[in-house]
Amino acid sequence: MILKKLVLGPLASNCYIAGSEAAKEGMIIDPADEAKTILKNVEELGLEIRSIVLTHGHPDHFGAVKEVKEATGAEIAIHTDDAKLLRQQTLGLLFGLYYPKPPAPDRLLNGGDSIDIGDLHFSVIHTPGHTPGGICLVGHGVVFSGDTLFNYGIGRYDLPGGSYNQLMDSINSKLMALPDETIVYPGHGPETTIGAERRGNPFLHG
Ligand SMILES: [Zn+2]
Ligand SMILES: [Zn+2]
Repeated sequence: MILKKLVLGPLASNCYIAGSEAAKEGMIIDPADEAKTILKNVEELGLEIRSIVLTHGHPDHFGAVKEVKEATGAEIAIHTDDAKLLRQQTLGLLFGLYYPKPPAPDRLLNGGDSIDIGDLHFSVIHTPGHTPGGICLVGHGVVFSGDTLFNYGIGRYDLPGGSYNQLMDSINSKLMALPDETIVYPGHGPETTIGAERRGNPFLHG
């Protein structure tokens, strides 16, 4: 699997470009900001982008979605329960971020759906708690965890639609069910593994 991480925007959000070596097709997870940087990397990797997947509907993760969609023609996919967040200007104010209005999503995701890019197959896990429609994408030994699970941290649950109990349930029942060696690529900060978080994440041990 081709995998490139970019750290973008004022909140240092992680954007991932993942692709199939064989098919030269790829997806962009969370085009956070700086469309030109994202598109330059896509070109360097030689990938045809099929899908733009938003782990959740916060503006620090979709700032460049309009430009990236226009440049690639790829489908925009987001969980059903977060689609409405794309239209909420108030969230931008809350985050102090101002971006072009995102286009309407092309595909509404639900838990259990799969995202297929060439010979790559990722499963959508619904992980509410940070937002109602937060998702993680699992496949090929990795999980893209959005703002649900971080390296020795967890997502905020105090924003509109957030819930501590839901977040902990999402992490404990869905993410901690993954094998220890699974590499975690979060929405902010460095990567980690499920095993490292199971053993050492202070928020998972009370
Ligand atoms: Zn967020
Ligand atoms: Zn974020």
